[in-house]
Amino acid sequence: MNRLDQLVAQAELDARDVFARITEVEERNTQKVLRAFQDNRVAARDMQGTTGYGYGDTGRETLQRVTAGIFGTEDAIITPHLLSGTHALSVCLMGLLLPGERMLSACGKPYDTLDQVIGRNGEPGSLGELGIGYDEVAPAEDGSIDVEAVLAALTPATRVVWVQRSRGYAWRKPLTPQDMKSLFDAVKAVRPDIYLAVDNCYGTFVTPDEPTDVGADVIVGSLIKNAGGGIAPTGGYMTGTKRAIGRIEHRLTAPGIGQEIGSYEPGYRAFFQGLFLAPHTVAQALKSAVLAARVFDLLGMQTTPAFDAPRADIVQAIRMDNPERLKAFCGAIQAASPVDSYLTPEPWDMPGYEDAVIMAAGTFVAGASIELTADAPMRPPFVAYLQGALTYAHGKIALCHALSEMKKLSLLPDGA
Ligand SMILES: *Cc1c(COP(=O)(O)O)cnc(C)c1O
Repeated sequence: MNRLDQLVAQAELDARDVFARITEVEERNTQKVLRAFQDNRVAARDMQGTTGYGYGDTGRETLQRVTAGIFGTEDAIITPHLLSGTHALSVCLMGLLLPGERMLSACGKPYDTLDQVIGRNGEPGSLGELGIGYDEVAPAEDGSIDVEAVLAALTPATRVVWVQRSRGYAWRKPLTPQDMKSLFDAVKAVRPDIYLAVDNCYGTFVTPDEPTDVGADVIVGSLIKNAGGGIAPTGGYMTGTKRAIGRIEHRLTAPGIGQEIGSYEPGYRAFFQGLFLAPHTVAQALKSAVLAARVFDLLGMQTTPAFDAPRADIVQAIRMDNPERLKAFCGAIQAASPVDSYLTPEPWDMPGYEDAVIMAAGTFVAGASIELTADAPMRPPFVAYLQGALTYAHGKIALCHALSEMKKLSLLPDGA
């Protein structure tokens, strides 16, 4: 074995107990999903699509009930007609907030693409243009939610308290549902009228519980991330209380129509199958992330979370420290992909992001980051965000390829 193969073998050995814990969560979440399928009598005909208005589209209706069942919530929206995570988050906020009301982000600046949804300068179509205000409370020093500061920042106009589970493009700690509980309890105690909303992108099925188990009114996610299991071709979901979903669904379609209509001719098989596979796919992605964390850790580079730290999302941040190393890493992940492996990713000005972003995504479903992907805004300290992998074997193979490419270019720390 060469030095790099030894390193990976060592990392795999070190991660054994962590892998076992991930498998345990996978089993519990699979049980949860399976039970919801059975309780809601998912049938072969639910796989079929409809056309036009889609009245009596049993696939759409069953998928909705299954989703509510999985999360133990009163109601849900899950549909191919939510076009991305940002679209789902935007529909959620537009549904919950009225002019004159305010949104309060409880853990610092939300995901980059929400800047333009919030629209602090009143950009066309934004919350700001509608006269909806925005406040923000920074996380505490250790990355946890500063509950006292959030309580102090509430105003009579605050209608939504926003929590983002995943780190986004920030070097901060992702939040588990348990990390959110004290905030939710504290806000509910003083202001039961406030909607507690969670951006659950990248977080779904990472833990045995979800934010809705600890008091969130609504959680939102993308189906080309965790909840689609690597199978769903597009779409998003929201699930939570009747009070929250009942408002949002009128923004999703039209007031008075809500979820009474909606067709999707290709059918719902990919959404059911994706949901069913999601706990497994998430586990594969987590194991790949843990391996990468341990390997770079052994190389003396900074990673977060640490390989054996509790995880709240599938994202692994690796500090590359310079643009050359970052580009080499992303290029190698692309080259190790099953699709578009012959392309070289270049930084570009993606819509919705401030800095140029480099993105390795050799995926079956375009841009699906539950599949193995690496991306990064081109700004110091040049952090690569690695996530996904449909199979652990692929995650490992791609990591080995990245290491050997980086070594060839003398971009690994000395001694590797
Ligand atoms: C991916 C992501 C989004 C946005 O989803 P898109 O599908 O890229 O629009 C929002 N929030 C978080 C935390 C995400 O990971």
